[in-house]
Amino acid sequence: MTVAACTDPSRVLRVGPTGNVIRSQAGWLMHAMSETQGWRTERRLLSLRERLRACDLCPRQCGVDRTAGQLGFCRTGADAPVAHVGLHFGEEPPISGSNGSGTIFFAHCNLRCVFCQNHQISQGTGNLAVRYLSDYELADEMLSVEKRGAHNVNLVSPSHVVAQIASAITIARGRGLRIPVVYNTNGYDAVDTLRELDGLIDIYLPDIKYSSEEAAEACSAVSDYVPVNRRAIAEMFRQVGNLLLDDDGLARRGLLVRHLVLPENLAGSRASLAFLASLSPEMVVGLMSQYSPQHRADEVPALSRRITYEEYERVIDWALELGLENCFVQELESTQLLVPDFGSEEPFGNS
Ligand code: SF4
Repeated sequence: MTVAACTDPSRVLRVGPTGNVIRSQAGWLMHAMSETQGWRTERRLLSLRERLRACDLCPRQCGVDRTAGQLGFCRTGADAPVAHVGLHFGEEPPISGSNGSGTIFFAHCNLRCVFCQNHQISQGTGNLAVRYLSDYELADEMLSVEKRGAHNVNLVSPSHVVAQIASAITIARGRGLRIPVVYNTNGYDAVDTLRELDGLIDIYLPDIKYSSEEAAEACSAVSDYVPVNRRAIAEMFRQVGNLLLDDDGLARRGLLVRHLVLPENLAGSRASLAFLASLSPEMVVGLMSQYSPQHRADEVPALSRRITYEEYERVIDWALELGLENCFVQELESTQLLVPDFGSEEPFGNS
């Protein structure tokens, strides 16, 4: 479908795929547009679902048939593995607000971070019960957190379940879901897959973890994180732009990038921040101080301790020097409060 710019309403505005002419009579045009959008959405959902048959949905490109029970790096089949659903108050203020963010934590992951604080569910170390949900059941969970008063649906670790969440969001929207949907990702996402989410995701919440491949390989078992992550963030920014808040200070749309400061500057913070500043100095960045040695962190000597006050201050200074003034910062003392226990009914002690 081609769309031509036109200021004269009597002239042709749009030409359909079969050559039929659609004139600018308001109701008619709107009807035609919704049909087109419906067709596009259906095509995208089918395309994503089809890609599960030789999975290339994330940059791992395993090529396994997930619909036939084959498992790739993320060890996830055709249904969405959900480990926890609940209101969460520990996100940045525009995400958590006063009512909480409606988090849906997916089990498994397409990275293997040695320090992952969610390792019980992301790497299966907790032997915890996981629910495998159909797209309709996942849509029900989205609607349930809205009903509980959540400011948004917060999809945590979604990169390996993009086909399922795209379908579930479409179903939930059709059933009346009104709150924004947040794509809360480790940032190892494929651009062509993200393009299929254009219009479905309101808020992107990606990590920018590293600026060197050596660190990414040692800490997260991934060899191409830096270029993949930067392309992904650029695509997210193209789709939604800078973070927009409503009158209550709640995020409605846009990009908020998280950067976890690591000891010994293992995260390469300055280069990561410089990249973000090159996209937009107005970008909203969460500078996270909450690193603490978890899981298999002792495999990387630099990760054996928390960061110091001086290390954190230096990263804040770099952000300001680079012109990034919209930063969220954390108290170093809050670290232990933010380490979840998914073996508990309330992993964060408040959900
Ligand atoms: S989503 Fe999973 S199976 Fe698919 S390419 Fe990524 S890691 Fe492999």
